[in-house]
Amino acid sequence: MTVLVGLDVLGQGVRDVAIRDGVIVEPDGTETRVDCRGLVALPALVDPHTHLRDPGPGTAETIESGSRAAARGGYGAVCAMPNTVPVADTPEICAYERRRGAEVGLVDVVPIGAVTVGEEGLEVADIAGMAAVGVRMFSDDGRCVARSDVMRDALLEIAKLGGVLAQHAQDPLLTVGAQVDAGVADRVGLSGWPAMAEAAIVARDAIMAAELGCRVHACHVSTAQTVAVVRWAKSQGYPVTAEVTPHHLMLDSSTALTGDAAYKVNPPLRSVEDVEAVRDAFVDGTIDVVGTDHAPHAPETKRGDWCEASMGMLGLETALAVVADLFVRTGRLSWAEVAERMSSAPARLAGLDGHGRPIEVGAPANLCLVDPHRTWRTYGRELASIAENTPYEGVELSSRVVATLLRGKVTFDLDDRFS
Ligand SMILES: [Zn+2]
Repeated sequence: MTVLVGLDVLGQGVRDVAIRDGVIVEPDGTETRVDCRGLVALPALVDPHTHLRDPGPGTAETIESGSRAAARGGYGAVCAMPNTVPVADTPEICAYERRRGAEVGLVDVVPIGAVTVGEEGLEVADIAGMAAVGVRMFSDDGRCVARSDVMRDALLEIAKLGGVLAQHAQDPLLTVGAQVDAGVADRVGLSGWPAMAEAAIVARDAIMAAELGCRVHACHVSTAQTVAVVRWAKSQGYPVTAEVTPHHLMLDSSTALTGDAAYKVNPPLRSVEDVEAVRDAFVDGTIDVVGTDHAPHAPETKRGDWCEASMGMLGLETALAVVADLFVRTGRLSWAEVAERMSSAPARLAGLDGHGRPIEVGAPANLCLVDPHRTWRTYGRELASIAENTPYEGVELSSRVVATLLRGKVTFDLDDRFS
């Protein structure tokens, strides 16, 4: 038995947490004691939106490297988006991802199945087959399920198994060639990405979710307009949840003026007013969860010309620190509220029973230990991902994940506290 001594559990009080056989138990006096004074304990985080690029060429990320990044970020489970090579649109590929994740053993890799064959948006994929290997979330992320007839057929299938469709809301016909937020498009001389291209899809999806009785999750909400749509849908009782990324909470569209493709992402970074709106919605619960949208890209695809560069940013290792800096240090959210948005709510969304549970006797020992006063700077080359495309290069963050446990196994231990 191991006892973690002096943990501040959810910032609500200091106590010891004893672990035996991967489960939290009552201490019995025979234990190894580990000094955890000064650390805050959260249930291990759950990411509803990760790109692990596996299967794939292995030039930006693999399940192994991504699992290490996740453990370093305090995650116990990550939901892997299906825009892999090949696309995860079959039971076999989804089963491979789960199995490979278990082999690596650092984080539970939860496959998200593609909604349509090849994520091409035309033909609904083998939803029932993927459900048979345990898949409960479906998405064409990277692309939008744009055709309403395909969306209808997919929702009817997913409703039967009690699953959820996670939508990358982007009307493709309104975003042809879009490079940056519409608000800065003229200043940088690139084509703009209008807010309505996101909000119109979320509004349609909310109506279809209610009508067809299937949960829809809006990925990476980025505008004030979409926040208003989600607020309306929830006020109607529609089965809709919403996600925000750390970068849409932290960064705004002025970064595009630098021309540095590290800030190129889909959806784009938005105006200061949009950032304020998503922050407020995150605090008041209109936005349910943080999804990292961790999107590794090989270095050569993130350098040079903005228009040629890939869209996306790393996020797993910095997510909690970004959220803590913005919301805990400012007194806008408690650690318990952060745990709800980064662990419990995403676990419910993805249907993961063992994750996001209160830290109490009988629960699996899935823990994220945070030093709330540990200042550090992030550098892409020091992150566990094969890719290095962090938007926080050299940025100082003021709290840090120092250890992660998955069913009692120490998957990350920054200070060798457990050795
Ligand atoms: Zn997306």
